[in-house]
Amino acid sequence: MTLPREVDAVVIGAGPNGLVAANRLADAGWDTLLLEAQPEVGGAVRSDRELHPDFISDTFSAFYPMAAASRAITPLGLEEYGFRWCHAPAVFGHSRRDGSWVMLHRDLDITAKLLDEEHPGDGAAWRALVDQWRRIGPSLVDALLTPFPPIGPSLRAMIKLPRVGGLSFVRQMLSPAAATVQQEFGGGAVRLMLAGNALHADIPLDAPGSGFLGLLLIMLGQTIGYPVPEGGAGRLSEAMRDRFVAHGGEVVCNAEVTKISIEHGRAAGVYVHDQFVRVRRAVLADVHAEHLYGRLVTFEELPARVRMKMAGFRRDPATFKVDYALSAPVPWRTPPPHAPGTVHIADSYEELVISFAQLSAGSIPERPFLLMGQMTTTDPTRSPDGTESMWIYTHVPQQVRGDAGGNLTGSWDTDDAERFADRMQDRVEQRAPGFSERIIARRILTPLDLERRDANLVGGSLNGGTSSLDQQVIFRPIPGLGRAGTPINGLYLASASAHPGGAVHGACGMNAARAALAHARLTPRRPVSKPTST
Ligand SMILES: Cc1cc2nc3c(=O)[nH]c(=O)nc-3n(C[C@H](O)[C@H](O)[C@H](O)COP(=O)(O)OP(=O)(O)OC[C@H]3O[C@@H](n4cnc5c(N)ncnc54)[C@H](O)[C@@H]3O)c2cc1C
Repeated sequence: MTLPREVDAVVIGAGPNGLVAANRLADAGWDTLLLEAQPEVGGAVRSDRELHPDFISDTFSAFYPMAAASRAITPLGLEEYGFRWCHAPAVFGHSRRDGSWVMLHRDLDITAKLLDEEHPGDGAAWRALVDQWRRIGPSLVDALLTPFPPIGPSLRAMIKLPRVGGLSFVRQMLSPAAATVQQEFGGGAVRLMLAGNALHADIPLDAPGSGFLGLLLIMLGQTIGYPVPEGGAGRLSEAMRDRFVAHGGEVVCNAEVTKISIEHGRAAGVYVHDQFVRVRRAVLADVHAEHLYGRLVTFEELPARVRMKMAGFRRDPATFKVDYALSAPVPWRTPPPHAPGTVHIADSYEELVISFAQLSAGSIPERPFLLMGQMTTTDPTRSPDGTESMWIYTHVPQQVRGDAGGNLTGSWDTDDAERFADRMQDRVEQRAPGFSERIIARRILTPLDLERRDANLVGGSLNGGTSSLDQQVIFRPIPGLGRAGTPINGLYLASASAHPGGAVHGACGMNAARAALAHARLTPRRPVSKPTST
């Protein structure tokens, strides 16, 4: 591997944020080098055929409502690079203890009808909620996905506020998930749907702000769906890579950046082991905050307050994932009225609360809340006709102090991992008797495996840091560094550790690229340096 000696910018890490940042810089005419530690691009947006050659598995993430809504990704025109979204017949289904389903369908009439069947009147309440969202939701999404303070989108949202109920609406957005929709709906279906989606972040259901993420996801589900890339998650990353290269960018994989070089308080370049690449403009780091601060840039090179504040940085919980190749679709005892792509498995709202409390207490949940992807149901290209490529995942503590359901240690050695995977699988078997007989192959990805495949998934966490309010917006990743800029000139944090955090939307990368470009407009380009030996 021979790297260029000098470029305008280096982007470290080809996750979705790094790919968006690299595309934006290439569009601006910058000579940009994208360095990726793994053998292929994509970060946590990749797919593989390790489980079975005929089955495509999404190694990490799978459903992308935020990407489909994102102004950082949709304008890239990825269709030109062979990219296409696919949708399952139904967006989402929650399977309850008795096997009955709470369903979200992209057809509003169908969702409303199903809610009415459960509790008369809830269909109309759902339509009212969706109507309210249609008026203000897109401005809220824009405000969320632009750098703080999001002046333009906020102004647009403020103008629309009186039409959706003014302060009552603001209060609803800030409410805990437990309370967000309690008054409007007589049945429990919407509350369960909202709570399950709220738990995609790691905020307790009774904490302020937890309702917003749940509401955001279910409203995106209703208005956009939870789409997947045709052919596997990796197709999204490959299309972004191909676009970047077509616009003059260079990508090098198997190139782990081991150090960012600082000269006179400025990012001067990066080391990939013993090779040095000098930058004329900037280094954008799609790396976890814990790796940027203290490792790629040592604490001695940073103001003392950074070390102090990073000591208080909190990770989000770890993830434990199991992938399956199935000889036939999941044999649901009570089949859902419409086949969903995403499935949640929890007996009840109360069980979700208990599971989360066990997680927060450092215990491996007794009855883990399962997220499931029925991938071939969503995209028939994922495995042969009549089969199903499928996964389940759940969260476990970063530091395991106990096991609420038995005697697992959290060491995640083979025995521990197999037994926990069995606990998760039993939950599916209870809902779908005969499930285990359909398993052709199963792959377990413990928190340690996830981190080995993507260094940003520190301890198996997937959001680049907790989503709790005290580590969001201006406090992300740490107070005082709530923008893409860092204390080092020319160095930008471009990963999910920056605002607005986890999920595939590319906004963290876009914010970093915009900050670098804005700064460059104010400063002259550094002269091309004379070749020196490295
Ligand atoms: C199991 C799982 C399921 C998920 N499900 C969803 C989902 O369904 N929908 C959704 O929207 N989000 C989901 N997410 C979250 C989403 O994938 C992440 O928030 C998103 O990928 C973050 O993007 P990123 O670019 O910041 O980091 P990443 O995607 O983690 O990419 C970072 C990249 O940087 C590289 N890198 C790190 N350090 C270096 C270095 N020193 N040198 C060179 N390269 C380096 C890594 O190898 C990696 O390729 C999921 C995540 C996981 C793990």
